[in-house]
Amino acid sequence: MSSIVLFGPPGAGKGTQAERITISTGLPQVSTGDMLRAAVKQKTPTGLEAKGYMDAGLLVPDSIIIDLIRERILLPDAKNGVMFDGFPRTIPQAEALSEITNVSHVIAIEVPDERIVDRICGRYSCGDCGLVFHEIFNPVPTSGCECGTFTEKRRADDNKETVQSRLAAYHEQTSPLAEWYESRGIFHRIDGDREINSISEDILLALAK
Ligand code: AMP
Repeated sequence: MSSIVLFGPPGAGKGTQAERITISTGLPQVSTGDMLRAAVKQKTPTGLEAKGYMDAGLLVPDSIIIDLIRERILLPDAKNGVMFDGFPRTIPQAEALSEITNVSHVIAIEVPDERIVDRICGRYSCGDCGLVFHEIFNPVPTSGCECGTFTEKRRADDNKETVQSRLAAYHEQTSPLAEWYESRGIFHRIDGDREINSISEDILLALAK
């Protein structure tokens, strides 16, 4: 069993690429952000604890995240590995992960800070199937979403105020992980400031290495 980590700042396109790579690799997408948003919506104890951190653009404590992952990895669809999207985000999370599953590739989607705000603030998704779009870079087709219907949904934390804290958390707590994984020889840098299909192609090439 071997898993993949999609690594990068908020708004780098990890979720969009995860949806595509899942089709090619068959590995299920495991997004801690999606899991936390579901917990917030359902008002579970985890959701109630996580909400304040998420609204402020701060990282949720490691213990909560690691517990979520430990449970998720036990589900039958994870038996051949998974594709992590937005996890790990700290060194303690990466250390915990190394005891839970083997990671074969870390795909770092790189986008400069100055592009992040526009990318995040123009982002929306289909409330019915979850597919992610962008007002300028990837608008929903005039014929609607590929799921057949379309209701526009925006994330509560996709706003100018929160994005700065999310970027700061990324630089302070998450980016040190690049070196951690680089020293393990499994880190692949991908230029994420390009057309979506070119990025997917490069990711698939990196995964074949
Ligand atoms: P995301 O959807 O990955 O952008 O995550 C949204 C928010 O959920 C983040 O700003 C954090 O507050 C929280 N979050 C998601 N994944 C993690 C993680 N691995 N560690 C800590 N907090 C996380």
